[in-house]
Amino acid sequence: MPSGGYQDVVNKLEALKAQFVARVVVELDDNVAKLHAVEGNAAGIRTLKQGYEWLHRLAGSAGTFGFQALGSQARKLEETLKQVVEMDSDDLSGLLATVLDEDFYQRLDSLPDLLKADAGDCAIPLLQRAVAEPEDGILQRVDLISANSEVREELEQGLSRYGYRVAVFDSPDGYRRDHASTGENLAALVADADLLDAVHGVVAELERHSDLPLVFVAHDESFDVRYRVADAGAGGFFTVPVDIPALADRIQQLNEEREERQGGKVLIVDDDDQLVEHYRLVLEAGGLEVVTVTHPPDVIRRLSEYRPDIVLMDIHMGDYSGINLARMIRFQPEWLGLPIIYLSSEQDRDEQISAIAEGADDFIEKPIRDHRLVKEVKARCVRARQLSKLASLDSLTGLLKHSLVKQELAKEFDRCRRYGLAAQVAMLDLDHFKRVNDSHGHAVGDVVIRALANLLRHRLRKTDIIGRYGGEEFVVILPDCSAEVAEEILQDVCGQFAGLVFAGDGEEFQVTLSAGVASLRNFASAEAALNAADEALYQRKRAGRNGVTLYQSQDPNHRDDQEARA
Ligand code: GH3
Ligand code: MG
Ligand code: MG
Repeated sequence: MPSGGYQDVVNKLEALKAQFVARVVVELDDNVAKLHAVEGNAAGIRTLKQGYEWLHRLAGSAGTFGFQALGSQARKLEETLKQVVEMDSDDLSGLLATVLDEDFYQRLDSLPDLLKADAGDCAIPLLQRAVAEPEDGILQRVDLISANSEVREELEQGLSRYGYRVAVFDSPDGYRRDHASTGENLAALVADADLLDAVHGVVAELERHSDLPLVFVAHDESFDVRYRVADAGAGGFFTVPVDIPALADRIQQLNEEREERQGGKVLIVDDDDQLVEHYRLVLEAGGLEVVTVTHPPDVIRRLSEYRPDIVLMDIHMGDYSGINLARMIRFQPEWLGLPIIYLSSEQDRDEQISAIAEGADDFIEKPIRDHRLVKEVKARCVRARQLSKLASLDSLTGLLKHSLVKQELAKEFDRCRRYGLAAQVAMLDLDHFKRVNDSHGHAVGDVVIRALANLLRHRLRKTDIIGRYGGEEFVVILPDCSAEVAEEILQDVCGQFAGLVFAGDGEEFQVTLSAGVASLRNFASAEAALNAADEALYQRKRAGRNGVTLYQSQDPNHRDDQEARA
C-alpha cells in the first residue's frame, strides 16, 4: 500500500463518504423540488431527462458508499422515468399523469430518509499485498527445512549458485521459532516431504505466506507421497538427489506466477470525482496501481503515459459516452489489445451486450461491493498480463523476444543521448553449445538455456533489460552503468554459470559462457553499439571463451570510455 496502512484507507473512505452525503443532500433538494413542479411541456421533458440521469448516477454510486436502500429506491425511480424519457408521445400531459403518480412521488420523497439509513458497510476488508515486491539488489531467499544434513548441504550449495540466499532449518519447530524475524524477499519454502504435515501446519500459522511457493523433496517417489504433496497445495516435487537446475527453474516459474497474480495497473475513467476516488482507494488497498481520469478528453494522453493493464470505463459521463471513448481508443492499433471494461450502472442486459459489441471486452455492474471489485479487477489484470506476456516474451526463457530487445535498446540509446548517461549493451553466447545438444539432446540443451535466463534475472538489477536474441544468444542492456562495472557484473555471471552442474543421461556436465560489451554513448546508433558488442563477443571466443571482453576500437579516432574520461 502506498500510504499509511489500513486505518489510513478507512479514514479516507469515510471522508469521501461525507463528501458524497453533502453532495447528495444538495442534489436531493434541487431534484425533488424540480420533479414535483414538472409540467407537460418541452421544459418539463427536459427536467425529467435531467432527473432521470441524476437518478441513474445515484443508483450506481449510493451502494458503493454504504447506502444500499437509497441506491435501490433510486433505481426503481430511474426505471419509471425511463418509460417517459424513451417515449415519443403527443399526449404528454396524459403520459405524465399515468407515470408520475402518487406512488412515484411517495418514493421520491422517501429518498432523504433513505440517505439517513446508512448501512455502514462500505469499509473494505483488510486487504494487503500478501508479499512485498523484491527490491533491487537484494538476493531472494529460499527457506529450507530438512532433517537430513546431506539434503540440506546439497540444496543450500546448489541454490546459492543460482543467486538465492538459502536459510537452513533442521526442523519445522526451528523454522517456527526463528522465522518471524526474517520476512524479506522469500522466493520459496523447500522442505522434506517426511515433514509434510508439520511444515503444512507452520505455513498455515504464518498466514502472510499463504501465497508462498512450496516445494517438497523426497527419497520416496511413490504415488502416495506425490499425492499428499499435491494435496498440501505444493507447487513442486523433486526426488533426491535433486536436479538443481530444474528446482531453480521451478522456483522461478512459481514466483513469476505469483507476481502475475499480484498487482496490476488500472486506469479508471469516470466523471464522478468521489466515486472514482473511492474506487482508487479500494483498489490500491487491494494491491493494485491506479490512475484516474475524470475529464474524458484526457484519456488518450493518460493511456500513453501510464500504459495500464486494463481500463475501467463508465458509460454515461455527462457529455461523453464511454462507448465512443472505447471506440476512439481502438482507433490506435497499439491499443487494440487493451482490455476495456465498462463499469456502469446500466442493468439492461441487452444494453450491456450492445455496449460490449462496440469495442469493450466486459461489463462490471455498479454498484459493486468493494471486495468483489478488487477480485474482479485483479482477475482481469492477471489475464491481461498473461496475454501481453505471451505476445512479447520468448516462451522458453520468459525473456524479451528479439524485436522487443531491439526496441528497448533504441529507447535506452535515446535516453543516454538526451541525458548524457552511460549505459552498456552486452551480447552473450553459450560456448560450444552445439556439443551440449549433440551429446545430451535438445531437451537438456533447453534446460541449460533456461538456467542462464534464470541466473541473469537473479544477478542483474530489475532495471536491466534481458532478452533472448536468438538460439543460445542473449542481449543484456545495463542502464546507468560504466563499462568497468558491466565487465565486473558479467564476469561474475560467467563465473557463476560455469559453476552450475547439469545432468544429462546420468552424466554431469558444465557449460561456459562468453560475453562482449560496448558502451552505448560511443556509437552513432543503437545498431552500431550492438554490432560492437557482437564483435567483442567474437574477440572473446577467439581468446578462449568463458569470460567477458570490452569492445576495443581498431580505429585510432574512435573514443572509447577510457579516453572520453581522460
Ligand atoms: P561457440 O562457442 O562458438 O558459440 O559454439 P557453439 O556450438 O555454441 O555455436 P553454434 O552457433 O555453432 O551453435 C549453436 C547451437 O545452439 C546450435 C543450435 O542447435 C543450438 N540451439 C539454438 N537454439 C536452441 C534452442 O532453443 N534449444 C537448444 N537446445 N539448442 C539450441
Ligand atoms: Mg554458442
Ligand atoms: Mg551462437
